[in-house]
Amino acid sequence: MKKYVGIDIGGTAVKAALIADDGTILRRSSVPTLATRPYAAVAADIAKQIVELSSGERIEGVGIGCPGAIDSRAGVIRYANNLYWKDVPLADELHKTVNAPICISNDANVAALGEARFGAGKEYSDTAFVTLGTGVGGGIVVDGKLFEGYNGMGAEIGHMVIKADGVLCTCGRRGCLESYASATALVRETVFAMQTDRNSSMWAFADGDLNKVDGRTSFECAKKGDATAQKVVNAYIAALAEGITNLVNIFRSQAVILGGGVCAQGKYLTEPLQKLVDEARYGGADSLRTVIVTASLGNDAGVLGAAGLLMPR
Ligand SMILES: [Zn+2]
Repeated sequence: MKKYVGIDIGGTAVKAALIADDGTILRRSSVPTLATRPYAAVAADIAKQIVELSSGERIEGVGIGCPGAIDSRAGVIRYANNLYWKDVPLADELHKTVNAPICISNDANVAALGEARFGAGKEYSDTAFVTLGTGVGGGIVVDGKLFEGYNGMGAEIGHMVIKADGVLCTCGRRGCLESYASATALVRETVFAMQTDRNSSMWAFADGDLNKVDGRTSFECAKKGDATAQKVVNAYIAALAEGITNLVNIFRSQAVILGGGVCAQGKYLTEPLQKLVDEARYGGADSLRTVIVTASLGNDAGVLGAAGLLMPR
């Protein structure tokens, strides 16, 4: 059995795990990131985690998922705003302690690889992972390998435009998928709908307080028959279907895996979405159908996908 270390660097904690080549997590550790420290101090803690987890055993490599813009080839984090990192040579820093190959990639791409290899996509070679959270992120796996674009800067699923001249996005363009399919967008549209319908049951669901509206408000009230909530949910799913159909038409993934908070809605999200994508995809009913499923690994997608960066297919 070959062993790898997978590391998931987040703004608050660095999670690490010793992982067997079949995806079994053998040991775990988590330490606070304390990101305001100089990066070398954070890297020294990560090196210590790697040494402790491997505890003298041979490891084949160390994979790392990190937020921000990553130059995978150089092992350098070009920019990670929530870590306050700019041009950080993390691989070189860790190689001072760690004598094994090190591979670093963007955390969303790494999670996509984790789900593809060990989670909801393990039956398939070609998958797309779409996370519906504060923003819309994800990654694309083609023939078992991450597709990241040159210098790891591609696969920004959330920033494909689905509506020309639409809602302004955080990236500066208008009408990006993220502006319609993130949990943030769902909350925005829910609040807007509530303001136009004072009789909606969403008001009671949110205790009469717009600050208590979240990604569940519209879905839960739609399930109970609230027409205004249903409109919000239908519009949300229709926008998401536009983006997913674009992905399907370009990559013809066998499965699209949904992650993030909104995917807790399960079939209330996936069933209508599947129908819309089935109808709209290029090639029609006779072409290969892409199945839409929810992610299965939760927070472990990060460490598992990181380890997967170094595993042979
Ligand atoms: Zn955008």
